[in-house]
Amino acid sequence: MTESMVLGVDVGGTHIRVALVSRAGVILERGKVPTEIHRGARHASMRIAGESRRLMDKARHHGASVVGLGIGVAGKIHRARGEVIFSPNLPAMNGYPLAMELRETLRVPVVMDNDANVFGVGESWLGSGRGIPNWIGVTLGTGVGGCLVLAGELWHGDDLGFAGEVGHMNVDPQGPPCACGLRGCLEAHSSAGALLRAVSEAARGDWLGCGPLYRRWMKGNLTAEGIYLSAREGDPLARELFRRMGWGLGIVLAGLFTVLGIRHAIIGGGVSAAWDAFAGPLRVTLEQYSSFLAPEEMVVERSALGDDAALLGAAKLAWRAAERGEG
Ligand SMILES: [Zn+2]
Repeated sequence: MTESMVLGVDVGGTHIRVALVSRAGVILERGKVPTEIHRGARHASMRIAGESRRLMDKARHHGASVVGLGIGVAGKIHRARGEVIFSPNLPAMNGYPLAMELRETLRVPVVMDNDANVFGVGESWLGSGRGIPNWIGVTLGTGVGGCLVLAGELWHGDDLGFAGEVGHMNVDPQGPPCACGLRGCLEAHSSAGALLRAVSEAARGDWLGCGPLYRRWMKGNLTAEGIYLSAREGDPLARELFRRMGWGLGIVLAGLFTVLGIRHAIIGGGVSAAWDAFAGPLRVTLEQYSSFLAPEEMVVERSALGDDAALLGAAKLAWRAAERGEG
């Protein structure tokens, strides 16, 4: 009998990653291609299909066949229609029936969800969320994504496509502008985008200082990682930016813990690699603003799966759909 496999796909602003995943959650093959979203949604969709086909061929070499595909995309997703409603980082995808098109092209069931939800499914399945029924997931990247796992299941609310969007909870109404058009959202304090905006503002205002951050800024192509390294080297502005990142996260988690009556959070995404720069201030703020929980009751952990959380979560969605016989 041919063994069954699924594909997990993570569509990011710069890269599309695809993985061939077994039922036990083992990644057997991987693929990565540039998204090239500037060439349009159809082009990106064809790149996903091309890379998926390549891994479907690889599956055959393993004596297996692909029975479904799960896909995570940053933005607001219409799960039933298989459509990207709105994606700030992939604007060409707005209104695009990505899952439906892939289903027709690849002739396998396709399920799609928001990238942070897919992160939640992955961490629940094989990562830091294993065995924890209720938790909040936060993904720190260009923006801030989030998910809610309640009673062991992803919370989709009224299925409006934005449940768990902690990135747009307000932490300071007078704070910096956010990509969503408001001011002072968590994302405007605690994302790579926020860090970079704050540094360019400091450069314009001539208060960047003359330390490591200034030197990296002058070289050009400053990244969130460069800001993190500057913080580690003691740059006061870089350290302050990560303190603010932790502060924002602490405010939001304290409020959510109180409202939901839960006490676990898992933080992932590329910028969570700067953990040692923001986890301390996060903890201080969380303890300061938690009305009902004792400090030792609150657990804030790092993602155990890193980059693979989204791939494995997308694969798990495909497995669930395959078991239910849908997609
Ligand atoms: Zn916002």
